[in-house]
Amino acid sequence: MQSITILGATGSIGQNTLDVVARHPDSYSLFAVTANGNVNAMLEIVCRYKPQYAVMVDSGAAERLRSQLPVDAKTEVLAGEQALTEVSGCAEVDVVMAAIVGAAGLAPTLAAINQGKRVLLANKEALVVSGELFINAARNSGAQILPVDSEHNAIFQCLPDLAQQQVGHMQLTDHGIDKLLLTGSGGPFRHTPIQTLSQQTPEQACNHPNWSMGQKISVDSATMLNKGLEYIEARWLFNCQREQLDIVIHPQSVIHSMVQYIDGSVIAQMGEPDMRTPIAHVLGFPERIRSGVKGLDFMALGELSFMPVDFNRYPCLKLAIDSCWAGQSATTTLNAANEVAVAAFLQGQIRFTDIAEVCDSALQSLECIKVDSVEALMAIDSQARRAASQRVEQVVYA
Ligand code: NAD
Ligand code: MG
Repeated sequence: MQSITILGATGSIGQNTLDVVARHPDSYSLFAVTANGNVNAMLEIVCRYKPQYAVMVDSGAAERLRSQLPVDAKTEVLAGEQALTEVSGCAEVDVVMAAIVGAAGLAPTLAAINQGKRVLLANKEALVVSGELFINAARNSGAQILPVDSEHNAIFQCLPDLAQQQVGHMQLTDHGIDKLLLTGSGGPFRHTPIQTLSQQTPEQACNHPNWSMGQKISVDSATMLNKGLEYIEARWLFNCQREQLDIVIHPQSVIHSMVQYIDGSVIAQMGEPDMRTPIAHVLGFPERIRSGVKGLDFMALGELSFMPVDFNRYPCLKLAIDSCWAGQSATTTLNAANEVAVAAFLQGQIRFTDIAEVCDSALQSLECIKVDSVEALMAIDSQARRAASQRVEQVVYA
């Protein structure tokens, strides 16, 4: 029996994780679930799954949740950011699903890493923001990082056993690997005329052709900055050099990513675009467990197609690749600026194409600070949020 904490339980990944965990009541017990402020979703989770703890970051939301719990409920409600860190680092926990969206997930995810937990990593921004520091922390504590993001999970599944045991510090060439091929669908605007991209609404941007996800990652998929964050994520998880990492557009999202070996073999992982597959994979690893996802129907699939990335359509992806090799302060800055820009776009303040503009301008204003601590990273993050917010205001009042 493994005891699990789900950070971001009310979100898309969180709910999918609860779905898989509930299929295996003899293998997992729910220690804690956390959310930002959605009381209704949390109340439903608490009543249905009966965790020991429910954390609401917002203290008003925690109060409301407490007052709405059934009288016989055994779940204890905690409030605030500190409680997130406590339920992920706590001695009674074996496994932590890191599924908070954005840099807000860094502190509780690092708490789990520092306590040597098995960390199921969906919160890609945490790794983008802290890179080497995150990987070194896991190495020091003995924490096991298992990638949930479908592309990284696919690559992980295509690696030899030994490389799987060296997440963050493997040498790809030692395993006969030539390169990793990250696939991406190209999102909802793959065919949209480039000159009309500026008119696309948040609703259109969130309408992903293959995957159902939270709002932020949906917008990131439309700009393909999501693929950019994933590129940076892959760089750290698999310790890649620039020439060892490529991106391929694959509109059907059936192949979730691939590993190319020096003998010419390419190993791909395929499946339905349903996050319960990678979630079940990391929950059960190294065993296989049922996820509720059916196998692929190849006769119904028809064609699989592939094409190169057009950076004119996806300028954010170019910014991310350049930032990846420029260094930690650049990727931390890009992530923070993007969080500000996406929020402004979702609120109808800026146009879709302004997202790239805001990210670029924050990167331009970047003053490189030496990054050797979480505090230094957070200082860069704050500075980038200020620069991005200023640019948003300029765009709004232009
Ligand atoms: P979501 O928006 O559906 O859910 C986010 C969760 O984080 C919610 O539970 C919310 O309460 C919590 N949260 C938000 N802000 C918070 C804050 N400031 N402090 C604490 N908690 C906060 O997001 P999602 O789509 O489930 O994505 C979660 C993470 O997983 C993201 O990093 C995303 O990139 C990654 N991911 C998602 C998918 C997917 O299919 N949805 C696939 C791959 C990776
Ligand atoms: Mg992904």
